[in-house]
Amino acid sequence: MMDQYRAIKARHRDAILFFRLGDFYEMFFEDAIEASSLLDLTLTHRQGEPMCGVPYHAARSYIARLLRHGRKIAVCEQLSEPGAGKGIVDRDVVEVVTPGTTVEEDFLDQSSNNYLVAACRLPVSRLAERSSARLCIAYLDVSTGEFRAFARPEEDSAGQAQALRAELYRLSPREMLVQQSLLEDKAIADAIGELEGLVVGKYPDWSFDPSAASKDIARRFGVDSLKGFGFDEAAPEMAAAGALLRYVDETARSGLPHLAPPLPYRDDEYVAIDEGSRRNLEIVRNLSDSGRAFSLIAVLDYTKTAPGARLLRNWLLQPLRSREGAEARLDAVDFLYRDQRLLASLRESLGSVRDIERLASRVAMDKAHAKDLLAAAESIRACARCGSILQAPPAGASRQIEPRTGGPPPSLAPGEDELEALARASEVAALVESAIKDEPSVLLTEGDLIREGYDEELDRLRSLKAGSREVLDAYIEEEKAATRIPTLRVRFNRIIGYYLEVSKGKLDAVPSHFIRRQSLVAGERYTTARLTELESEINGATERIVDLERRLFLDVRDKVKAEVASMLALGRAWAARDCLASFAWAATARGYSRPRLADEPVLRIAEGRHPVVEAHLPDRSFVPNGIALDSSAGRPDAPAFALITGPNMAGKSTFLRQTALIALMAQAGSFVPALDAEIGMIDKIYCRVGAQDNLARGESTFLVEMHETAFILNTATERSLVVMDEVGRGTSTIDGLAIAWAVSENILDSIRCRTLFATHYHELTAIGHPRLRNFSLAVLEEADEVVFLKRLEEKPAEGSYGIHVAKLAGLPPAVLQRARAIQSGLEAKELSQPAAPREPKRGAGPEAGAAPEGLFSPGDLVLAELSSIDTDRLTPLEALKRLSALKKRLRS
Ligand code: ADP
Ligand code: MG
Repeated sequence: MMDQYRAIKARHRDAILFFRLGDFYEMFFEDAIEASSLLDLTLTHRQGEPMCGVPYHAARSYIARLLRHGRKIAVCEQLSEPGAGKGIVDRDVVEVVTPGTTVEEDFLDQSSNNYLVAACRLPVSRLAERSSARLCIAYLDVSTGEFRAFARPEEDSAGQAQALRAELYRLSPREMLVQQSLLEDKAIADAIGELEGLVVGKYPDWSFDPSAASKDIARRFGVDSLKGFGFDEAAPEMAAAGALLRYVDETARSGLPHLAPPLPYRDDEYVAIDEGSRRNLEIVRNLSDSGRAFSLIAVLDYTKTAPGARLLRNWLLQPLRSREGAEARLDAVDFLYRDQRLLASLRESLGSVRDIERLASRVAMDKAHAKDLLAAAESIRACARCGSILQAPPAGASRQIEPRTGGPPPSLAPGEDELEALARASEVAALVESAIKDEPSVLLTEGDLIREGYDEELDRLRSLKAGSREVLDAYIEEEKAATRIPTLRVRFNRIIGYYLEVSKGKLDAVPSHFIRRQSLVAGERYTTARLTELESEINGATERIVDLERRLFLDVRDKVKAEVASMLALGRAWAARDCLASFAWAATARGYSRPRLADEPVLRIAEGRHPVVEAHLPDRSFVPNGIALDSSAGRPDAPAFALITGPNMAGKSTFLRQTALIALMAQAGSFVPALDAEIGMIDKIYCRVGAQDNLARGESTFLVEMHETAFILNTATERSLVVMDEVGRGTSTIDGLAIAWAVSENILDSIRCRTLFATHYHELTAIGHPRLRNFSLAVLEEADEVVFLKRLEEKPAEGSYGIHVAKLAGLPPAVLQRARAIQSGLEAKELSQPAAPREPKRGAGPEAGAAPEGLFSPGDLVLAELSSIDTDRLTPLEALKRLSALKKRLRS
């Protein structure tokens, strides 16, 4: 047997092998050592070799835990009955479960897709130069059947790494297949390496062959050419798509009939938001602990269904570029928003739509049990109910203030295809309802699946079985009367079957036809010839019932399987409507209003709020702020560039981000937190935050900033929105100022896009460009105190109030006093030589700590700061940040 084990293991070296032995899956050797520590299992030994095991019926939960650790599991089953043939039992791997291909409910997260991604770099055609090789990406969610592939436009290696990073952030895959040579590119390897817990499989270059892959894919989906799906002949992205298909076929070992043919993914349909900007805007995760709390999606997600929640995540990560597309969503949201009764009943009905996409996939992969089928049927019915709610005439139409004319807008109303899918799916729902009993078993081996009245033969067997039970009961009564043992009763256990139990005191009354089976302390167990006969009748019926139920169930499941495509279509349609209803409800609950979309490059927001900050402040304490930008080419004097100065804590960062978020929400089709908003369609959003350490990437803060700035200057267009927050912090004042100045000028003169630029460099207010306007956040000075009003005003800030903030932070009074003295000294010095060209010497600026004579040494300042820290209130993360900032100050 160990030879058999070794042979199978040799074919699955990268997986933990679950080797079926009777009622257990056993693991041996290194697998046993690793699994026992990951799963907290006791490590035992067999002939001196390590081994551990899990009971087969609990295997699923152990598999889910190993998947969470990024492991693959090869499940090896017994293919013949033990003892049936001679020699050892036949065994083989029936399935390889991997993080990127699993449909395990215990493992999957309901509100996000589980994508498997493949990436390679290939020339557009065989004849093309190597230098024109393009990055190709394909992705697939086995649990929902979504499948996409695309090749990026031509770009250099840094651009490819940047693009890959953005896609990986959006898709958050758990597993990835990568072409060997692609990993030799350091920038790309770094981008892939940043993803935590990603399982990466390397594949040789020759396995990415576009023309072979195209043929495979065409054959699989029964077409001559992939043109019909929107791909060119032997398009390079087909190599990535082909790698995915090969991999899922290998691992699942069952057909995957629900997989749709790949569709092209056109990223120019969506607002381009690079990975860093998505992070900084905290769209689906916050910056502090990468959790969902305090992110945009956390305040906007009122979806009722899992497919809806997954789609909403995609909508927020990919706002639309097309005005028509965004307007269509807004029309639908508006319609639902205006009819709150309809919205409420729609949302209530949506509550009974289960995860229809993943149910459909489980059916397609022959993994659905009876409860899954019932859930699918229930969901189909709920979709039908939701549909009729939408089509119903408006509630109290005659008395409405703004009577609705006609039905729902096109983006809500079902199309022909969907109605057909619903009709077909409803038929299988009816079949399931008539066939599957309530509260069925989730196993196929116990019966308890099929409803009475569904199948005549089954009903006959069941009454036969019930009849035998009645005969059995009558027989016991007979024996009771004959033996005069009133406590005589029939019992059942798995080992000896039916038996009669007689307690110790009554043994004298036992008649001679009782055959003893078992002796216990309290009495004896018997059988009789008649009892044995009845037992085999009952057993025979039970066996036939279980077998018949199983066959009937599989037949029903196959019929459902034939309609998997309809179920997926319904799932998609209702996921979208769930998102629209979620937007409408968020608008209601949070007081948002409909944005106006425009074609001109404008950005006019009146009384805008930050959706997340607002939600976490006490009622109404958020101070709304507006802005009006217009970067139209024909209006060279219109304000296009807002330079926002002001002290720390004034509210600059919040304002910057809220403005970008409002634009993003509008193009995703959501209402926005503003009294009024007019958004000219944006093609790319950039959101940069300076002075941020990227420890994970191991690059210096300043280098990261400059990379990011270069990326903006190289890729932004007239239609982009650029938000830069304190860029230029990572170097000395003079360098930083000079760079910030030059970057601003470049944006103003060459890119000419809508820009919000927050800075602590006062000097920038002197740029003086017709498109630039100076703003600041109002500060009230009272005696020795400053109050930040959080109100935006069109004028430059008057001071940086750094010392006030230091005071707020609890710096000791002596330090504050000394700082004030130094400050006035420095200001006097500066004023005496303002226009002199200053040498941009590193470390020359006052903030860099090159202390003039007689001042505190950096060490003293650091000590003072250390003593002011209240360690009881510090989180570990803050502590780490403070520590690294202090270290940096000591070094400079
Ligand atoms: P800055 O970038 O100018 O240092 P932040 O934007 O980080 O300032 O804001 C500082 C604090 O003020 C944050 O804690 C934020 O929650 C709060 N805040 C910012 N803007 C507002 C506002 N408009 N209304 C109420 N509180 C605000
Ligand atoms: Mg800030």
